[in-house]
Order: sequence, then C-alpha cells, then structure tokens
Amino acid sequence: MKKVVILGSTGSIGQRALQVARALPHALRPVALAVGARYKDALAQAEEFGIRHIAVADEAAADRCRAVAPAGMTIYAGAAGVEELAALPGADIVLSAMVGIAGLPPVLAALRQGTDVALANKEVLVAGGHLVEPLLEESGARLLPVDSEHNALFQCLDRGGWDTVRQRGRDVRRLLLTASGGPFRDRPDVDFNTVSREEVLNHPRWDMGPKVTVDSASMMNKGLEIMEARWLFAIPVERIDVVVHRESIVHSMVEFVDGGLLAQLSIPDMRFAIQHALTYPQRLDGALPVLDVARLGALHFEAPDEARFPCLALAREAARCGGSMPVVLNAANEIAVAAFLAGKLPFAGIWKVVEAVMHRHERLDDPTYELVMEVDRWAREQANEVCAP
Ligand code: MG
Repeated sequence: MKKVVILGSTGSIGQRALQVARALPHALRPVALAVGARYKDALAQAEEFGIRHIAVADEAAADRCRAVAPAGMTIYAGAAGVEELAALPGADIVLSAMVGIAGLPPVLAALRQGTDVALANKEVLVAGGHLVEPLLEESGARLLPVDSEHNALFQCLDRGGWDTVRQRGRDVRRLLLTASGGPFRDRPDVDFNTVSREEVLNHPRWDMGPKVTVDSASMMNKGLEIMEARWLFAIPVERIDVVVHRESIVHSMVEFVDGGLLAQLSIPDMRFAIQHALTYPQRLDGALPVLDVARLGALHFEAPDEARFPCLALAREAARCGGSMPVVLNAANEIAVAAFLAGKLPFAGIWKVVEAVMHRHERLDDPTYELVMEVDRWAREQANEVCAP
C-alpha cells in the first residue's frame, strides 16, 4: 500500500489520479491533497478518501477552508503550506500535478525528504532540472514521469529498476517524442493572429487543463517536453526528436544504437501513465480500457512543420543555450499563455513574447534556486511588459 500526496488534486491529472486510486484501493491510499483555491472540492475529495491533510495555496481560500474544515483536519496555507505538505513524513510518493514553475519548490521539498515524486508538471524540470538532478543522487528518491510521452520512454528504457533507466544513454541513438500536432495540424490556412480561444482549446485527442492545451496547440508543449526528457533520461537534446502522430496511440519511441525501436502503446488516457508512475515497479490491473489493435487500422507518422510552429525552434534554442534560458522561455510562455486565455494577446503573440523576452536575457550559468526564482520573476515582468506595452 502506497501513501500518496497529490499536489493539484482538483486539476485534470489530480482528478484522474483519484480515479486510479479508487480503482486500486489495496495499492494506493491518498493521504494529503494540495489545491490552488478550490478548497470545497478538496474537502469533498478528503471526505471520500478519509484524508486529513489539505494545503490551499491561495491564503484567503485557506482561511475559508479552515473555518469549515472538520475537526482533526490540518489545513496548510500558501506556497509554504504546499511545500510542507509535499514533505509530509510517512508519505511514499508525491504526485506533482500543479501548473507551471509553482511546482518546483514542493518537488524539491519532497525529494529532499527522500520521498519519490511522480511528475506531471514538466515546467519543474524545464526550469529546475539542474536543481533536481543532484537531489536524486543525494536523497535516493526516485522521479517517475507522468507526462504520457516520458512515461512511455521510461517504460521502453526500463530494464528492471529505476536506476537502469538513467543509465541507458550509450544504448540510445534517439528518443522520439510523439506529438498529436494539436488542433491546427490539418489546417494550414488558419491565421494564428485571429484564431479564437475556443479553437485553440479544442484539442483533437487529449482532454487536459487549459495551460497544457494551449501549449499543445502552439507545440510549445513538445518543446518543453524535449527539455523534460533531457533531464529525466540524461540524453542530450540533440538526440531528442519530435514526430507527429495523429492517433496518439504510440506515446513515444526509443531508437537504440542497433537500429531497433521500442514503442509504448495505449489508448490516449492519462490514467495509464498516472497508474504506472504511482504503482511502479508493480504492474496492476486497474481496469483501464484495453487497446484493440486489430480494430485500430492505420497509424500515421510525419515530421512536424517547424516553420508553422516556431515554439519548437525557440525551445530548442533555449535548451541548447541552457543555464537560465529555459527558465526565461518557461516564464515568458506562462505569462503569454495566460494573456492569450484572458483575451489580451493573439495566439501568434505567444511565441513573439517568448522570443522577445529571450532576446532581452543575458544567460546565467548553472543558476541557484534563488537565481532561478529571480530570473523567473524578471522574465514574467518583461513578458507582461511585452504583452501590454
Ligand atoms: Mg505530454
């Protein structure tokens, strides 16, 4: 029985994680939840699972939560409260399913405590991969990917133990991240300056939160995933490629030096990756829907159109540059996506903002945690300025 802490329990991944826990009551026991401001939903989840620890990142919402929480429940407030919850003694694994760089401090806190982390929140590694990596060595805690592509790569690389996955570098020629291509894959004439919020949020394959759905439409998501893979698998970014696969059945592939390719397949449902990460190294029957390959018909693969989706090249540039540049790309993108969702920026403005802020930045080598957070704040200010000059 694993005791699970869920950061972001009311979001898309968090809710599915609770579905997985419901299906596997003998393997997984949620013991603590963290939410942004939706404390009423968190209290309902806590009641169902008998959970007695809730963190509410929004301080005012945390006060309201405290006022109505049942006796015997501990409410943790603010970002510091989320960090405290992530390092809760006795927990076996923390699922990080928050949005953006806000997930970095609690992930570092969990790893420092020696608790395994199941990571859905890719921005943590994009901005702080160099801070996470040494902690893995020091603490012995394991980092398990929940992002579907990285979970697939993990399964293809695993030779019977978490340690074996990060030692496969010499065997690997390329990692191939699959991309659905987003809602504009087959719409070459669409004008990214005028495309609506609804069209951008209408993802053809995956039902996800708004931030990652916008990132999928711009293909920034795949750019962030290249950086995420680099830290998870210790493979240089030059050996990580993207292939568009419209059916979202093959979740990613590893090409080995002998030319063999391994792929991982399932229907597109995040519960597969969540269950794998939370129950690893076990494989359990969580009653997930089976992929009937005989009824699948054809699977399609094609190269991405990098000219139409400049975010891929921007992310590669940030990754090659390294140091603090990925922090800047990530922060500028978070601000630009929020501005787009608020109707204050055209879709094509997203990559223009990111590019402009990257050009203003003088790269720092190997930034400390404090510098990462400082660069993040700086990049947000700059991005806000570019969004609304
Ligand atoms: Mg993904």
